[in-house]
Amino acid sequence: MNAPLLITNVTLFTDPDTALLGNHWLLTHGNRIHSFGPMDTLPQEDTAILIDGKGKLLMPGLINGHNHCAMTLFRGLADDLELGAWLNDYIFPAEASHVSPEMVYWCSKLAAAEMILSGTTTVADGYFYEEQTAQALLDAGMRAIPAQGIIDFPAPGVAEPQDNIDAAETFLAAWQDKDERIRPGIFAHSPYTCSPETLQRAKKLARKYQAPFFIHAAESRQESALLMNPQGSSPIRHLAALDLLDANTILIHCVWLDEEDRKIIRESGAGVVVCPQSNLKLASGIAKVSEMEKLGIPVGLGTDGSASNNSLDLFREMDILAKGQKMQSLDARAMPARKALAAATTVNAQIMGFPRLARIAPGFMADLILLDLDQPHLQPCYNGDLLVYSANGGDVSDVIINGNIVLRARTILSFDLQETMQQVRRLASELHANPCEAKPSTRRKEQ
Ligand SMILES: [Zn+2]
Repeated sequence: MNAPLLITNVTLFTDPDTALLGNHWLLTHGNRIHSFGPMDTLPQEDTAILIDGKGKLLMPGLINGHNHCAMTLFRGLADDLELGAWLNDYIFPAEASHVSPEMVYWCSKLAAAEMILSGTTTVADGYFYEEQTAQALLDAGMRAIPAQGIIDFPAPGVAEPQDNIDAAETFLAAWQDKDERIRPGIFAHSPYTCSPETLQRAKKLARKYQAPFFIHAAESRQESALLMNPQGSSPIRHLAALDLLDANTILIHCVWLDEEDRKIIRESGAGVVVCPQSNLKLASGIAKVSEMEKLGIPVGLGTDGSASNNSLDLFREMDILAKGQKMQSLDARAMPARKALAAATTVNAQIMGFPRLARIAPGFMADLILLDLDQPHLQPCYNGDLLVYSANGGDVSDVIINGNIVLRARTILSFDLQETMQQVRRLASELHANPCEAKPSTRRKEQ
């Protein structure tokens, strides 16, 4: 059982729909939030670890709804390309030659460090050798939904595509009840890299384990023409015809939808996660979030992998989400800051199936972050809008996950960050020359 934590003198942001509460305390018991209140009601808690929150803001940890953690190795390897060339000419070949269990473990751990240091406490991941990602995120102290990748090509760890469903089942069976912080899932890459039969078998497996089922869908304008054996005239109609859409399906991107697609998603109960920076960088387009929300489709937020963003900082992502929606609709009211905050907290929790996550309320998970408000770019602090438009991940000072302190005064306590960075630098040097790498200086001989 974790020691209780008592955070005092802090400004509370409990959820996107509530005003900031100044000068409060919050108490955790075990892995849950126990209670909170104004400082004049501070309880006597002799056994609790005290954290002075003066000058700080306490809020729920952010949830990254879509990532490929291990792809930190490919950050900056191939920028400024369109999706097809980026995937086929750079990413798929680099993955074929440089993805190993060791690479996935260390590069996922590097992603965990970047996420913790920018206030993300839960991540949904999709990749290969996913047992390594699950282990890295568990070791890093995070909460996670790691999902084993399925694709109809020879893939890292699955040389024969016909074995991809069996490999996914081995992963689900091994991780289903392993730890309360890990909920394993399935990640079918897309309707243009998986056949209808593969998609149906993957979804059947997810249903058997009641596991979340993720899939990239309607990412680029060209996708309808690329579908493998199309069963409908759009990616969403194709997935619906295959009976793949239900409340445990999470559709990633959904940039190119028409009215009929949106109705189908709404009726199915599926969730959507948008990744605005990845879509902007690959020039895929801007998802029409307001149109989806109008129908009642829950729309969460993710960063996508480091190779297509290239940052895992959800504060940056919330800012771009809100501004992209305004630009896309030429309406400054299209997405208020609190909606962007909801996308990265309460809506993502709903989509991922965590009813007691991402809100500060008694009985909710003790996944919390502290931001240092005592900085020029965060003054004055009138309301929570500054979390979207002014804050960045570097403002996060402390992170608590499942009642454990994993970051204290910007030092990671849950694992050795230097060891992780050293391992990733070694792996990167095998892939590409790194001019930023520090080299031992050559001494000039004394004359
Ligand atoms: Zn992705």
